[in-house]
Amino acid sequence: MSARLRFAPSPNGRLHVGHAFSALLNDRVARDLGGTWLLRIEDIDPERSTEANVRGILEDLAWLGLAWPEPVRRQSGHLPAYAEAAGRLRRQGLLYPCICTRSAIAAAVARAEDGGIPVARDPDGTPLYPGTCRHRDRREADAWAASGEPCAWRIDMAAALRASGPLAWRRFAPGEPDAVVAARPERWGDSVIIRKGIGTSYHLSCVVDDHGQGITHVVRGRDLEAATDLHALLADRLGLVLPRCHHHALLAGADGLKLAKSRGSPSLAALREAGETPGAIRARLGFAPPP
Ligand code: GLU
Repeated sequence: MSARLRFAPSPNGRLHVGHAFSALLNDRVARDLGGTWLLRIEDIDPERSTEANVRGILEDLAWLGLAWPEPVRRQSGHLPAYAEAAGRLRRQGLLYPCICTRSAIAAAVARAEDGGIPVARDPDGTPLYPGTCRHRDRREADAWAASGEPCAWRIDMAAALRASGPLAWRRFAPGEPDAVVAARPERWGDSVIIRKGIGTSYHLSCVVDDHGQGITHVVRGRDLEAATDLHALLADRLGLVLPRCHHHALLAGADGLKLAKSRGSPSLAALREAGETPGAIRARLGFAPPP
């Protein structure tokens, strides 16, 4: 089977140089493996995704000299596939509805810590959910689902771990033998698998699509490496294949911090307007000139 990779930006802003690096690396690795890469637009969040950003992403990638086979997968067009997967997790008794607000969770965490009970953080630094809503029994959860009332659904991590047992995923690095990485999904606690009002989450959609699109290799930033542990658990529970993964170092700006839209890192569009050429950007990132 020939290699299939994907570049999967979220259209909640324009691409910056860090995205350019990731896209160019996907392209290079796909070529080296004699395969191809697909473009997937991760636009599940209607409040943060815009059509202008989607158009901008296509424009920026083409400007860099990249090309990908059609069709582009837009996650917003596949919500029923994610709902089906969520239903399967729910029927295994692994998801429960959570009606806690962010502030209620923050207050519960503060109360615990004030009382001298340390609260573990997930790999992104967010305190683990204290499990307030986990007590609901199966019938109550089913009734909630049937009501169609939007709420978040969390994974019952302990139950999922019991069902799956020890898990691992394969790390690949071009030119090196694969490594088997022991997954520690418990680091994420009872993570949200269905976001309120969205009907899915990055984690669930990513696992469903990587399998559904026949992705064999994932190349993405190191900021998502820990999430792969959770993906290994979801894939196992859903009977889906998890691709091999490579997590590249993140590019830092002049301030030494990782590039991010939220930190105002210059977009490729701004660099283009300032007269930068695709060749110069590619050369700066260590890639050959555009074909
Ligand atoms: N959509 C994610 C992002 O823009 C990337 C997801 C992935 O590559 O798995 O950060």
